[in-house]
Amino acid sequence: MQIRTRLTLLFLLLAAGILAAVLSAVYWMFKKNTEESFYQGLINQTEVAAQTILLDANKLHPMPSNWIAPDDDINNLPYQENLSIFDQSYQRVFSTNPNAVPIPARDLETIYKHGEERFIHFNLHAYGRTVSAPDSRPYVIVTEGYCNPTVILELRNILIFSFLIGVFLVAVSGWYYAGRALDPVTSILHEVEKIQPSDLSKRVETIKNKDEIGRLAITFNLLLERVERAFLMQKMFISNVSHELNNPLTAIRSQIDVLLQRDRSQEQYKVALNSVLDDLKSLNNMEQQLMDLARVYTTPHSIPRSPTRLDELLWQASDQHKKRNPEYPITIEILKLPEQEEDLIIHANETLLKLALLNLMNNACKYSPDNSAQIKASFEKGRHQIEICDKGDGIPEEERHLIFEPFYRSPRHLQVKGTGIGLSLVKSILNLHEIDISVESPPSGGTIFRLIFPE
Ligand code: ADP
Repeated sequence: MQIRTRLTLLFLLLAAGILAAVLSAVYWMFKKNTEESFYQGLINQTEVAAQTILLDANKLHPMPSNWIAPDDDINNLPYQENLSIFDQSYQRVFSTNPNAVPIPARDLETIYKHGEERFIHFNLHAYGRTVSAPDSRPYVIVTEGYCNPTVILELRNILIFSFLIGVFLVAVSGWYYAGRALDPVTSILHEVEKIQPSDLSKRVETIKNKDEIGRLAITFNLLLERVERAFLMQKMFISNVSHELNNPLTAIRSQIDVLLQRDRSQEQYKVALNSVLDDLKSLNNMEQQLMDLARVYTTPHSIPRSPTRLDELLWQASDQHKKRNPEYPITIEILKLPEQEEDLIIHANETLLKLALLNLMNNACKYSPDNSAQIKASFEKGRHQIEICDKGDGIPEEERHLIFEPFYRSPRHLQVKGTGIGLSLVKSILNLHEIDISVESPPSGGTIFRLIFPE
């Protein structure tokens, strides 16, 4: 069922329920009030009868079935209803309408028992009460009549008609307003249908209202932006990876081709094999980085942590970096140390954190003209900070939010070997440890990657 239909039906059911309840209450109260005032009339007439007819005991005698009250009796009494008087043996001794259906003995008995009673006799409302004649004999006077049913019936018809009209108006207006309320959703739906994976640059038109639908459009656009970025990164990854795979593979192939063209000396074979080994190492390095990234991405919560001394970790990373890249010099400057050694201990995954530092050191050297990097560390209780600085050409402002995206490589550095994975891996590892990273490229040149550890 469409939302519009469902909303209209719900609205209709609700409104119809409320309307029916209100109209029923109005009908019920009116009916009750009418009955009450009618009974009040009957009671008054019974009083008058008690005071007039019963005073003249001569008028009271068992009545034959064809008995009709003398005209003066009827005309002198201010009522149009049937009024009958019964003696103790339930015998009718007076009536304004002898043709009236006799009151059953059961009802008369109840009146004698309770002193007075209201009851329905056929379709007439009746009131009866006991009275004592001047000679102390007890009688029962019963007055009965139609409780103006036409007024109640008319009111009932008016209320039913109003209910039907009301329900119709609610249905029409509900359908119209549900349609209007859902209009923006429908237009978003049409726009979304037009968006194809081949062109993710399209956006849903946002409406000015900041209501739920306006926010839905904005959220959807943000989602589209992320999807577009992910697609872009994927494209970049494919082209980078194929480029990075292609370079060493082509080099290996051409070196082997050249080697096989004729016999070579042992020295030449050695040089060529070493070069092939270098290319294989770079392939191996790339594969390793991809594996690390996959690990951090897929199982972030199951990565074990242990108490780790931060200064030692930094020295170990620098040693490892020197061993791997002896041609990349690194200097470490410790600006501050805490008084207590244990204040240097953090809870971390040593291997991953070292890997992040190694990547930052490697980048700093790689993108510096002299291939050197300077590390400045300040270890204070709860305020550890490490800066990895280089003297490269810096990172322009507009690139800074992109460098941490997986597979992003600056077009300025395409001639430098790389995969575009390093910094995204660094970011994921630092996120895991809640370590904040910021990038700064001062106008004087170079880049500073600043790591601020949580308190
Ligand atoms: P890779 O170095 O393999 O290309 P990274 O993810 O480590 O990939 O870095 C992404 C991009 O960020 C690099 O291509 C480079 O353009 C830029 N970058 C990273 N570190 C530096 C730096 N220290 N100086 C200048 N540019 C850098």
